[in-house]
Amino acid sequence: MNMSIDPAETPQVVTVSEGFYVRQAVDNIAWIDLGGFAVAVDALEHAELEDEVFEAIASTIGETPVRYMLNTHTHYDHVALNAAFRRRYGAEVIDNRSGGIPAEGRWFEGRRRRAQMIPLGGCHTAEDCIVWIPEDKALFTGDLFGWGLIPTTRPLDASLAQRLTDAYERMIAFDAVTVIPGHGPLCTTAELRRWVEYFGWLRRRCAELCATGAGDEVSKRLILRLEPHGEIVRELSPPEDMLAWWRFVQWKHENSLSKVLQAVRRERLGAQR
Ligand SMILES: [Zn+2]
Repeated sequence: MNMSIDPAETPQVVTVSEGFYVRQAVDNIAWIDLGGFAVAVDALEHAELEDEVFEAIASTIGETPVRYMLNTHTHYDHVALNAAFRRRYGAEVIDNRSGGIPAEGRWFEGRRRRAQMIPLGGCHTAEDCIVWIPEDKALFTGDLFGWGLIPTTRPLDASLAQRLTDAYERMIAFDAVTVIPGHGPLCTTAELRRWVEYFGWLRRRCAELCATGAGDEVSKRLILRLEPHGEIVRELSPPEDMLAWWRFVQWKHENSLSKVLQAVRRERLGAQR
């Protein structure tokens, strides 16, 4: 990935395999011909993309009806085209807001391939689901993977950190060849593994540096803004191999560091191993 070009600025339809397409942009939408019918995953933020999306679907899978629209979760930037899919195809919109998806997942089976929608809540939202396409070894993570983001808006604490680690362990276990995040470029299982390492490194290093009194000259009031001359911020610059991660250097690393630092300072993370 070339750092100087933001790959999400120019939407493009990526072919995962025959009959399986992702419109990769800031918000991702996918449609997959299961054989006889198709499912779509996530419905974007902007309803005005309706015509463009339906044209892209028609030009790739023709008249194959999109019978289901799977929402990984129901944040506003994943649901805008739900109504359009209902109107155009009579699609059934499926999410886990009511907790109705069984723990072992719900299967959608066509003649050609299958999709499994699996609840993995408690990190980004209570209703998070991932979607697994076994025939293509492709995994939709929704917003659980955010190219360096700690995918939660609640303050980080030990139990949330554990839930995140467990969720990543489950996603990594699929050994997906193609990983499709809710936003930005597609990636692979290697990036999921790298994020777990990064998260552990941030927690460990923040704890070590705070224990030595580093950054104590930085007023706690300023932690959120990551006072630019803080010793900790200087110590924990973005890892070399993650510099090209989507929008990582621009703001995600700083955001993650801030979340971890706050949790460590407030002793919410417990002992670091
Ligand atoms: Zn979200």
